[in-house]
Amino acid sequence: MDVQVGDVIQTKKQHPCGANRFDVLRVGMDFKIRCQGCGREIMLPRVKIEKNIRKILRGDVVVPLTPRNASTTGNTSHV
Ligand SMILES: [Zn+2]
Repeated sequence: MDVQVGDVIQTKKQHPCGANRFDVLRVGMDFKIRCQGCGREIMLPRVKIEKNIRKILRGDVVVPLTPRNASTTGNTSHV
């Protein structure tokens, strides 16, 4: 999933404060996001965030979520 710093993500689950949009402050193994409702910053592992993303907003553009090919072909990277 293509999330960049500066994007805004809309999540399926909302924050306890009621907001469901977060600014992306840092990406990597862990994402750092900031709730737009209450300003709280949260660090979460990428996998957790990816499951929870409903929409990625980049400026006025909604970034399409590319469904990853979940075809389990086994261990492809064995050399
Ligand atoms: Zn909040």
